[in-house]
Amino acid sequence: MSELTLAQRFEAVQARIHAACARAGRNVSSVQLIAVSKRQPLEALREAYALGQRHFGENYAQELRDKHAALSDLPGLRWHAIGPLQVKNAKYVAQAAHVFHALENVEVAQALNRRRTHDALRCLVEVNVAGEGSKAGLSPDALPAFLAQAANWPALTVVGLMAMPPLSDDAEASRPHFRAVATLAKQHGLTELSMGSTFDFEVAIEEGATWVRVGTALFGERLR
Ligand SMILES: *Cc1c(COP(=O)(O)O)cnc(C)c1O
Repeated sequence: MSELTLAQRFEAVQARIHAACARAGRNVSSVQLIAVSKRQPLEALREAYALGQRHFGENYAQELRDKHAALSDLPGLRWHAIGPLQVKNAKYVAQAAHVFHALENVEVAQALNRRRTHDALRCLVEVNVAGEGSKAGLSPDALPAFLAQAANWPALTVVGLMAMPPLSDDAEASRPHFRAVATLAKQHGLTELSMGSTFDFEVAIEEGATWVRVGTALFGERLR
């Protein structure tokens, strides 16, 4: 893996996205690759940008804030906040993010709504379809009541659902979870699906993902 250049890894992931789209009979333009750059050095992000990558995903609000500032010279770069968020850090996401993928609680939604001053922040609600106790995300049962409150947050636009199935050696293990998320989104008239990471993004595309969040396959191992 470390033998490969960043350009080769990006090319390989793009090829896998194309193949998954072909298998699923989908147009490649319906799937957006988010390069998950958490704990990757700025030089790696600049190199990815030079290769044409524009969408980057960060988990930690302070890291997002710092990278947003450090790379503000790159036109068209779009930040996706993909990790769990605490109220006290909502301001960083409100300032820097193009899309927030991990909305799951009312207090955070209210804080983002107060802090967002430019265009509406597009948000995905994170759902815990596998019913894992330890995992972030709303249970599907809680989704209707949560979505009903979205009208109270004019600075946010809920556009879809996000999910992170249990890690597994077998990408196929994610398929039923992805399918459940896609069904749930359809039931609620939501069009965007943020699902799939390095180990299962092709299955996610086959099940309708519109945003895949890929880190390791693009950048290699993360810094500690
Ligand atoms: C880190 C992370 C990813 C990317 O994971 P990889 O296995 O490196 O592709 C995707 N989504 C979320 C929410 C993450 O935290």
